[in-house]
Amino acid sequence: MNPLSKLIFELSKLPGIGEKSATRLAYYILNQDDAYAEGLAGALREAKTKLRYCEECYNFSEVERCETCSDVRRDQGIICIVERPSDVIPIERTGSYRGVFHVLHGLLSPMDGIGPEDLKMKELFTRLKDRDVKEVVFALNPSVEGEATALYLSRLLKPVGVRVSQVAYGIPFGGTIEFTDRQTLGKALENRTELNK
Ligand SMILES: [Zn+2]
Repeated sequence: MNPLSKLIFELSKLPGIGEKSATRLAYYILNQDDAYAEGLAGALREAKTKLRYCEECYNFSEVERCETCSDVRRDQGIICIVERPSDVIPIERTGSYRGVFHVLHGLLSPMDGIGPEDLKMKELFTRLKDRDVKEVVFALNPSVEGEATALYLSRLLKPVGVRVSQVAYGIPFGGTIEFTDRQTLGKALENRTELNK
């Protein structure tokens, strides 16, 4: 494969990028000066080598315990459960959440063969055992898988004795946390409802 085709091919693997967009991006990169391409390649390499999962919340982090998990000003007794690392940023941007996170890295989906052991569920319960947690808040995307995952976990959480709540959904069914506007998501967090009464 020639270098141009190879670049287009690699870019086309990115989510939401078809061959047309990949071609446009490839030409854009080639038309910039050398420093741009080097900066881009460097940023990719650095992110990939320096970032790993926080051993507490499984979000990306440069260190063993991420900034959020080691922040004493945050309420370490409230854990917000999200599907992916990209769900953390929009929740942070609402400014109305002062607890910590737990990234599951997926949702239960028997159809796709994704069971509890494929997600960071065991790790969540280890956390609950080791720390003084008062509340677990689900902020999973409103989908069949999101609801099934929240239901499964809330059943397991019942005997643990923590308060279990779910963000109120101004978020449309089938919508995503990642692309919900700040106000809607902020309100959804404030108006979370208890799941395990
Ligand atoms: Zn963390």
